[in-house]
Amino acid sequence: MIDLRSDTVTKPSAAMREAMASAEVGDDVFGEDPTVIALEKRLASLFGHEAGLFCPSGTMTNQIAVNIHTRPGDEVICDEGAHIYRYEGGGVMATSGCSVKLLSSDRGRFTADQVEAAINDRNAQWLANTSLVNIENTCNRGGGAIWNIAEVDRINTVCRKHGLGIHMDGARIFNAMAESGESPLEWGKRFDTISICLSKGLGAPAGSVLVGSNKMMAQARRVRKRLGGGMRQAGILAAAGLYALDHHVERLKDDHARAQRLEAVLLELPGVKDLMPVETNIIIFSLQQDQDAASFCAKLKELGILAMAIGPSQIRMVLHLDVGDGSIEQIKLALLRIAK
Ligand SMILES: *Cc1c(COP(=O)(O)O)cnc(C)c1O
Repeated sequence: MIDLRSDTVTKPSAAMREAMASAEVGDDVFGEDPTVIALEKRLASLFGHEAGLFCPSGTMTNQIAVNIHTRPGDEVICDEGAHIYRYEGGGVMATSGCSVKLLSSDRGRFTADQVEAAINDRNAQWLANTSLVNIENTCNRGGGAIWNIAEVDRINTVCRKHGLGIHMDGARIFNAMAESGESPLEWGKRFDTISICLSKGLGAPAGSVLVGSNKMMAQARRVRKRLGGGMRQAGILAAAGLYALDHHVERLKDDHARAQRLEAVLLELPGVKDLMPVETNIIIFSLQQDQDAASFCAKLKELGILAMAIGPSQIRMVLHLDVGDGSIEQIKLALLRIAK
């Protein structure tokens, strides 16, 4: 089976398992796991932040960020397709007691003007207190769209002016950087906190890191414990993350090139419409005449390919390190057979 449902399906390679098996470990709740500390330090300094916090998942790093930037009753500004809102079990509402102000945008990328217009008047006691803006880069529901750093700058200025926090859900920030060429430092300085996933395109079995100031990460550490994310000999997992940073960053461009080869095939298929421009490793398209996405995926499955229906007639395919060039030919043939 060629699994294109998500870039989370990758399995740790033999070399990654080797690195995990030989990791030096300690009790991370006591702050004694050298491998976790090394991973946190490495990502924090890469993005120009003071400290990092290793967590089991990107949902946890995002939800901790929301929690430390807000108080119950506050409001968070994000895109209507944002992962923090759609795919984290209602955490913004349940874990932090916040409401969301949802923006409609260009595939997940809203503007500074939209943010400014969405901030509630602080003098109006009857309105929720707006305290945080969330930017997702790349945008998952936006077909892996990359943010323009100049617009992020303008949003950052709006946030400073109104005293709002600014968080990046950077689950796929390394995919964005592989294409746009900006450095982690350039992204880092425009955000108060950034969540970075190791278990997506980077290929680790689990783990995300939140980076920010020493003060914010001290608060974050308490919230992580409260949520049950304080792991003990977590260096075994952190070692996979360090291995991924050493070996799986450069190759992200290969996934993007493969996604573009499939984009070229899909553009020619009469049964396909609304193909989002492929910018990174995610491909999203719809079927003509609102054909049923689930049955399209079932036909693909018979031909050995797994894709994901993300709407009644919308399909997502994601490239990752377990899908090589050889598989692209097979996917192409399967698509030609069924998408008539
Ligand atoms: C996958 C993902 C996350 C984190 O998901 P987990 O499965 O909890 O690690 C966060 N944001 C985006 C945009 C994602 O795609």
